[in-house]
Amino acid sequence: MKNKNNDIILNGTDCKSAAAGESSWNLPNIPHKGWTIVDVIDIREDGQSEDETDYQTCMMCNYNRIRYVHIVSHPEVENDFEVGCVCAEKMTGDYINPKRLEKKLRQRTARRITWIKKSWKLTENGNHTLIFEEHRLLIFKDKKTNKYKCKIGEVWGKKSFDTIDQAKNAVYNGIDYLKVKGEW
Ligand SMILES: [Zn+2]
Repeated sequence: MKNKNNDIILNGTDCKSAAAGESSWNLPNIPHKGWTIVDVIDIREDGQSEDETDYQTCMMCNYNRIRYVHIVSHPEVENDFEVGCVCAEKMTGDYINPKRLEKKLRQRTARRITWIKKSWKLTENGNHTLIFEEHRLLIFKDKKTNKYKCKIGEVWGKKSFDTIDQAKNAVYNGIDYLKVKGEW
């Protein structure tokens, strides 16, 4: 059991669900069961590095490096709780969905990293282009402002970005949006 907990701590993204110390697991007025999972969110922002990530603390076991925050709700508790995966599983008695939702998010993050690493071509004017799934993408660097603007196909995005990675992320979000709308 000890080894298993250590593994989870080293992993750095999940709560250890400890039943010791100041953990809310020991408070009499907080139910241990009967919670339902509302959502799972990745608190790391697009393009943010590990050092910059403002990790959250599991409200149940107080483990303080939660990246994938599981939001759980209970009919007798006024506020939703934000906890790690291990605590979410225990509280909901659901050992499938908390993990499944977290996995979906992890896969999304992995796809985003693959995307950021794609090699774009640098044009003579210092712009970046990429043909992706038969669509031409362009990231244009405005020489006056030093900011980046994005173009998907023939459509320019409205926003400007300080870094090329932020611009690439914006293009990714744009493609995601078009795919959802069935316009890709
Ligand atoms: Zn926890």
